[in-house]
Amino acid sequence: MHTLLLSNADVLIYEDSSWSVIKSGFVGISGDRIDYVGQERPGARYQEELELSGHLLMAGLYNMHTHTPMTLLRGLGSDLPLDRWLHEAMFPVEARLTPADISVGTRLAMMEMLASGVVSFSDMYDRTHVTAEEVVKAGMRANLNRPILGFDPTETYEASIRVKESLRFYDEWNGAGDGRVVADFSIHAEYTSFEQLVQPYAADCLKRGARMHLHLSETAKEHEECKARHGKTPTRWFFDLGVMDSPVIAAHCVAVELADMDILARQGVSCVHNPSSNMKLGSGFMPLEAMLKRGINVAIGTDGAASNNNLNLFEEIHLASLIHKGHSGDPTMIKPDDLLLMATRNGAKAQGRSDCGELAVGKKADLIAIDLQKPHLMPVHDIKALLVYSAQASDVVMTMVDGKILYEHGTYLTIDKASVLDDLDTSVARLFGPA
Ligand SMILES: [Zn+2]
Repeated sequence: MHTLLLSNADVLIYEDSSWSVIKSGFVGISGDRIDYVGQERPGARYQEELELSGHLLMAGLYNMHTHTPMTLLRGLGSDLPLDRWLHEAMFPVEARLTPADISVGTRLAMMEMLASGVVSFSDMYDRTHVTAEEVVKAGMRANLNRPILGFDPTETYEASIRVKESLRFYDEWNGAGDGRVVADFSIHAEYTSFEQLVQPYAADCLKRGARMHLHLSETAKEHEECKARHGKTPTRWFFDLGVMDSPVIAAHCVAVELADMDILARQGVSCVHNPSSNMKLGSGFMPLEAMLKRGINVAIGTDGAASNNNLNLFEEIHLASLIHKGHSGDPTMIKPDDLLLMATRNGAKAQGRSDCGELAVGKKADLIAIDLQKPHLMPVHDIKALLVYSAQASDVVMTMVDGKILYEHGTYLTIDKASVLDDLDTSVARLFGPA
């Protein structure tokens, strides 16, 4: 088993419900696990040693809601409202995406995420097996799904091609890549669903012990239209159909009501905050403070690159730290402590990965190193405030998953950058015409 010692780095740990830093410490890795964290050099010998003085080591970040192949649509339809953006800018191009496009879009997204410290992501897209193959090759972690949606109210569960693809994806890919790939169930949203699909699909999810990924109350418009359609909120509608009997990852939750939050808290639903996307599409603000007060497990995501327009989780952390203070007029709400948990441990919890999301002995070695020798990171009075309010994604110099370095100082060790750029040119030329 390969062993590696990371030496002389400041090490950010979460212990006894608080964050602290071991100054100039050591982190030992044996295979895919952390086997030592401490101030003193460990007694055990390691095959390799990496000197990291002037760097901060911390748990890698979780991008908990995205649509990776949409990197190909980056920036398209900017400045349109959500329904027009979807129908006029997204769907026509998405209908023409081939497996080769999905492949390069996924690889490009992973390059962007690895360079900004993301070790694991939760994705929602189709042709999911293509994304899964790329994730396994790249060595990242991901919860993937093939979402179901329907536009024909007479379509039966048995006849739905999307349901068949979704179940097949789960059965073929759950646990692939030494467990790095987790297959989820997924319902695109209430406004693209019918009861006769949702109810049996939720039952199949429960039967398999899987988790469910949803878009939930992203806008006030869809939320109110649901109430007009069904006489209840999307949260209540999904709950009544059995969806929340399984663990759920619910993206957005901007328009949820107090009674919805009580349901989300009671059912242990993980809610994903996507501040850039929600603001860019004019959707509003998740009631983050109210959710945290109720003990809801909240994580952070970028959403797809078409509505963000990047996959930079540090930017999402930064925005999440500021917008609720600005919006409410209360600068004491939403502490860096909460944001760092949301970006790491809460994500791992939402993905059902109990041995991930923390820099601690026995946990998976999913770590990032941040170069602290930058003008905007000096001096270090409060490392948590520094990470949330000052750090940039480009300060990440090393990203490791399962004890393997996947990205280091601009170099990708498992993704061939040159072929991604070639394949990207080919896809863009075919989809959008020559540049
Ligand atoms: Zn989304």
